[in-house]
Amino acid sequence: MIGRLSSDSGGLASEDAAARLARNGPNELITRAGPGIWVLVGSQFRSVLVLLLLVSAAVSAVLGDWIDSAAIATIVMLNAGIGAYQEYSAEKSIAALRQMSSPRAKVRRVINGQRTVVVVDAAHVVAGDVLTLEAGDLVAADARVISAASLSCIEKTLTGESEPSEKQTLELTDVDATLACRTNMVYMGTAVATGTGAAVVVATGMESEVGGIAGLIAESGRNKSTPLQDRISAVSGLLVKASLAIVAVMFAIGLLRGQPLLELFLTAVSLAVAAVPEGLPAVVTVSMALGVRRMARRRALIRRMPAVETLGCTSVICTDKTGTLTAGQMTARVLWSRGVAVDVRGEGYGPEGDVMVQGRAADEADREQLRPLAENLFGCNNAAVILREDDGGTKGDKSEGVGPGVAWDAVGDPTEAAMLVAGVKLRLTAIDRESIDRLHPKVYELPFDSDRKRSSVVRSWGEPGAARVQCNGAPGGVLSLCDHVLRPEGLRPMGQADRDQILATNSELAGRGLRVLACARRDMQLATGAPRSLSDQIEWFEKELVFVGLVGMYDPPRAEAKKAIVQCQEAGIRVVMITGDQPRTAVAIAEDLGLIAPGAAQQSQVGLSRVVLAGAEVVKLSDAELEAEVGRIVVYARVTAADKLRIVRSLRASGAVVAMTGDGVNDAPALRGADVGVAMGRSGTEVARQAADMIVTDDNFASIVSAVEQGRGVYDNIRKTMLFLLGTNGAELLLMAVCMVAGLPAPLLPVQLLWINLVTDGLPALVLAADPVAHDVMRRRPRAKAARIMDRPFLIAMGVTSLLTAAVAMAAYMYGIMYGDEKTARTFAFATLVVSQLLLSLGCRSETRPLWRLGVRSNLMLPGVVLGTILLQLCVHRSETLAGIMKTTTLGWGQCAALFALAAVPLLVLEVRKAIRPGWSILHVSKLRR
Ligand code: ADP
Ligand code: MG
Repeated sequence: MIGRLSSDSGGLASEDAAARLARNGPNELITRAGPGIWVLVGSQFRSVLVLLLLVSAAVSAVLGDWIDSAAIATIVMLNAGIGAYQEYSAEKSIAALRQMSSPRAKVRRVINGQRTVVVVDAAHVVAGDVLTLEAGDLVAADARVISAASLSCIEKTLTGESEPSEKQTLELTDVDATLACRTNMVYMGTAVATGTGAAVVVATGMESEVGGIAGLIAESGRNKSTPLQDRISAVSGLLVKASLAIVAVMFAIGLLRGQPLLELFLTAVSLAVAAVPEGLPAVVTVSMALGVRRMARRRALIRRMPAVETLGCTSVICTDKTGTLTAGQMTARVLWSRGVAVDVRGEGYGPEGDVMVQGRAADEADREQLRPLAENLFGCNNAAVILREDDGGTKGDKSEGVGPGVAWDAVGDPTEAAMLVAGVKLRLTAIDRESIDRLHPKVYELPFDSDRKRSSVVRSWGEPGAARVQCNGAPGGVLSLCDHVLRPEGLRPMGQADRDQILATNSELAGRGLRVLACARRDMQLATGAPRSLSDQIEWFEKELVFVGLVGMYDPPRAEAKKAIVQCQEAGIRVVMITGDQPRTAVAIAEDLGLIAPGAAQQSQVGLSRVVLAGAEVVKLSDAELEAEVGRIVVYARVTAADKLRIVRSLRASGAVVAMTGDGVNDAPALRGADVGVAMGRSGTEVARQAADMIVTDDNFASIVSAVEQGRGVYDNIRKTMLFLLGTNGAELLLMAVCMVAGLPAPLLPVQLLWINLVTDGLPALVLAADPVAHDVMRRRPRAKAARIMDRPFLIAMGVTSLLTAAVAMAAYMYGIMYGDEKTARTFAFATLVVSQLLLSLGCRSETRPLWRLGVRSNLMLPGVVLGTILLQLCVHRSETLAGIMKTTTLGWGQCAALFALAAVPLLVLEVRKAIRPGWSILHVSKLRR
């Protein structure tokens, strides 16, 4: 098989892989590509209104008014261009983001003659590549298994079977074996449930088994609109109908008055175009895409668009402790075995640091007592520490003393790395990783799993056939498997006194916030026919153990997590800690982080307490009982993945919007069950990443909180843009309607209406949609998920804006009618309307705080756009040619100044109102509701 693919179990050379990739194409399922720019431009003209407008412009050109119709056509084109560009850039940035969170694969490659395992984009996997597989990986392509240790895969996507199927390397005799029976193959898109292995890729992309199933391809529906987008589309559909109805009524009135048909028709259609917020859906998308990009910059990758808005409503964040609230940098502090307790000094993963016994350096005899413990530390351990060139990264607490620019770093599980380092610091002769591996080869490995909470290895030890099981893991579980204990004087059956002493020491260490692991071992004969499947091996080896000792390690809370927790408290978001560690450890860290008040958990201890619940209790509670408790519990300890799912479900049933973190294979259901599933980018498995709505690339709790902040900001921006668009469009409609009903000549001509639509709806709306997040978003309560965007305060604000703007334009118009001619009056109305709308965009940035409190500098784009557009408007009124095209008169400087002053009135009124009473606002309303 390997030969046929001209590969080798060491992997392909990187040049060869690149050549194969170029030849055979990427390992991707072909999905429908997003629309190109021309399709988007074309779609702009699909609107009936725009078509009507173009037709009537053409008719008026035929009738001789070709300047007007050319101007109209140009403006319509410009509008379409802007619209297409908006949609195109939204489309583009979403596609780019999808790339970032795309699946990865580990392959063996030969780079410069050196064999290594590299992580590559799954799309870059080629036939002949050797995949290395471990629990939690997604299989990147169809591949033939060449090595397997307890390897099993969940192939639900292909076979519908949710139990893992075991894999092996032997040739199959049955040539026609069904997919489910081909035990020496692994398939693209399936997940590794247990064990480790390697497999040679035989088919990629559309040639794979999933590639053959057409139905699955449609799965990548991530581009689908979000609930909010749907709601806004529905609202704008309604607005379209409403404005069309108004325009139709006006058209009818005009007809009755006997106005010329064509002129009337063109006015009506232009008004409809101006009044319909056609840019709204695109602006919403832009706003979301921008939010997604900002989140990415803050290390949160969005995988599903709806997460952007759901993040903004999040009311509970359930977060892992280890590595998320804490730094994930473990340092062993205490070793305890055979009656000797040593304190381990030194920080980080470097080898320097003394071991102390009761304040003095440990002597030879003390350290020798710990030899059996050290054997476990080295023996049941897959981590490594390496010297790494310091890239000047952000990790502050790397070990010092190695020299500038170099630091010790953990490879693999930090918990295991910490045990390794502690073993090194014991400095015992003839015991290190290499000599153990050489003298006592590994026979079986039962990997760590966060439900079992322990790991074991079986090594051949002593005479042929003799073996030693070494088991490290959570003290409770390990202790329950032990029936003997290792004492200074030797092996003896475990008595109650031994058990009590071990538990007391464990409690003491946990109370100091240390994560505790117990080490145990067992010497046995390796009978032939040891079981192959992992679950049978566990039963076979993990029993009748001899207790060896305890390790206590510290993982400092992240400083930024403390701040983020305070931020959450202000923002009305509950933070819930979920951990596999024991309750005491969890409580100590939670107190340190400020999640619970010191002592609050003490009174209640472990049992059914006020704020702390252990996984064992979660299991005992009925759904209804859990639902009643879930609002109070701040720390869940010793949980399994199944508990996590129940916790999420109960929280959601109690009305919360829940973000939940996860990293393991087993976490996938909980991640899918949460409103926002958050996977850890660094420590997380591929399965968790692909099940999540969001990936936090630095595993940091603070990044989740800043994503929530951005999510709230996105909603705000959509709301303010809507307010601006609807408020100003309403003003146009109102002005035209009032004049029409009053029997006055139309205050705005078609070309002017379209111009207003172009300059006010386009750029200012786009810039508003990109407004930076306000300082106070995290000082509000989370909004209800079902809250309507156009609530009462919104409607009031919108109505007042329309009224004020229409009023000043009307005033200018009436003044012109009284003291001049119709054309002058139109010019006045036109200029006032444009300028007042532009100025209003500045005020729309906040519903509660006046402009001067926001700080102009927080969004310089907007004043820039407003100023630029006002200058453009000034040109229209100062240049003979432009005025001719726009059918206005030119204006003197004095007139310009007067009109500007008038146009500033609506903004001034609204801002002064905010300064006096920040009413009408989301903030106000949500405060009242509490
Ligand atoms: P968390 O959710 O806080 O990361 P884990 O599920 O990883 O917790 O760990 C739970 C417990 O399992 C720990 O308290 C520790 O006793 C034990 N444990 C953690 N990592 C390992 C490991 N690599 N090998 C053996 N035991 C471990
Ligand atoms: Mg963990």
